[in-house]
Amino acid sequence: MPGEEQISTPLFVATCQSCGLQFDWRLSNKDFLHETTFHWEEYMAPSETWDHDHCAMCWQTFMEAELPGVQQAGYVGYTEEEVWWICQQCFEDLREEMGWQVEIQEEPPTQS
Ligand SMILES: [Zn+2]
Ligand SMILES: [Zn+2]
Repeated sequence: MPGEEQISTPLFVATCQSCGLQFDWRLSNKDFLHETTFHWEEYMAPSETWDHDHCAMCWQTFMEAELPGVQQAGYVGYTEEEVWWICQQCFEDLREEMGWQVEIQEEPPTQS
């Protein structure tokens, strides 16, 4: 289980050494992601300094680089201002519960 060997941090909190993002395992309430539509995407780093993201549910890392325990693709969903990545495992486990939809994206979405 992630975090169990890290005695220096509280059991339920993990901090990313790269981006400083804190993930609290107790904050499992992701109601704002209910009914969100996702699409499958290869991970592309937004910039040179922002080279990774984390799964919103389990905190797994997404990167372009092929490293152990790192995902190179996942489900991407947009809420009003944020982009969320969900790993395949979490997506499959939580899809029904969260009412997630999958968008088959063949062309760029048109602005309305
Ligand atoms: Zn990070
Ligand atoms: Zn996950």
